[in-house]
Amino acid sequence: MADKEISTEIVTYGNPVLRRRAEPVTVIDSSIKRITEAMVEAMLRANGIGLAAPQIGVGKRIIALDIDGEFHILINPEIIELSTDEEEATEGCLSVPGVDAPVTRRTHAVVRGVTLDEKEIELVGEGLMARAIQHEIDHLNGVLFIDHLTPAKRRFLLKEYARMQREKDQ
Ligand code: ZN
Repeated sequence: MADKEISTEIVTYGNPVLRRRAEPVTVIDSSIKRITEAMVEAMLRANGIGLAAPQIGVGKRIIALDIDGEFHILINPEIIELSTDEEEATEGCLSVPGVDAPVTRRTHAVVRGVTLDEKEIELVGEGLMARAIQHEIDHLNGVLFIDHLTPAKRRFLLKEYARMQREKDQ
């Protein structure tokens, strides 16, 4: 079967792929490499610091991170360590463009995954890197940053988002 066309368009809130649990990658083949290339292109174009495969419509467990000069692609990433310490910081998402909100995350996270050349690696994240790791892994589980807000704050943010979308469409 021919590969489905891979898009570099970032899908936005409301697209069901963002709410599905992504599938593990079983073989790192040329189609997985093409998916990661599309992810990197989409992330760079949007000036993002991280992207998960569902954000380009692909339900596979792959994330890309580009923070403080560190660039990583992780396949089948899993968080293996989280601090109990938390901090609140403003967070946004390329799939919910134009709005942001303070989100509480753990300050330290260690993620284990496989690189494109099939090496197992562990990344130790502090601060922004720890936040991005948690945000991108959430995407693989169908979770968005807005899910970490209280229902009232989430409603407010989504109303704001809908208003901005309406204005953009006019
Ligand atoms: Zn996101």
